[in-house]
Amino acid sequence: MARPVNSIDNIRANSIRDDESGCLLYMGSLDKDGYPRISLQGKKGIGSRVVYEQHYGAIPAGHEIDHICHVRRCVEPTHLRLLTHQENVIYIKAYMEKREQRIKHLIDTYPQVTSFPVVLTLPELQALWACTCTANVKQLLQTMGRAFPEEFCYERLKERQGRNPDLYAIGIQPSLIDTLSNEDKLRVMPAEDLMTLVA
Ligand SMILES: [Zn+2]
Repeated sequence: MARPVNSIDNIRANSIRDDESGCLLYMGSLDKDGYPRISLQGKKGIGSRVVYEQHYGAIPAGHEIDHICHVRRCVEPTHLRLLTHQENVIYIKAYMEKREQRIKHLIDTYPQVTSFPVVLTLPELQALWACTCTANVKQLLQTMGRAFPEEFCYERLKERQGRNPDLYAIGIQPSLIDTLSNEDKLRVMPAEDLMTLVA
């Protein structure tokens, strides 16, 4: 395994510029998830975090570094941005794709959802989206609402009571169908990345 590098110049010397994307691809050692492992001034860490701190200053607590280019080994400072963990979950590409597939599946199953709200129980949503637990369904609804605030809305109509499960109303603007199909064309994602990111 390559020895960890110890200066910004070394990081650059160990990287190759991709002219097409502008990415600076780190060719040194990577961690199991494909992120550069960099050791700088005695601090070990993920390359994107180290490079970000060198260029823009300390990363505030509760924040993460997102690759705008979605290339994990990229250490180009202008391809990095600061996000809160919550924002990062909205943007991570694999999650985005999985989430969008689930919205499409909802629209395919209930085409009327773009005209008026569809009322579904929590277990029905869980089955529809093949979620492992109902907590994931709630999380998913929340993230979908945050990702498409104008186009995806949901409301809990009734809280679970005894044997009656939670009841949700979901409404989708027809424009979301266009948004989703346009985003498809912009993305190419290797299948193995999807497998590791989407449980
Ligand atoms: Zn990049």
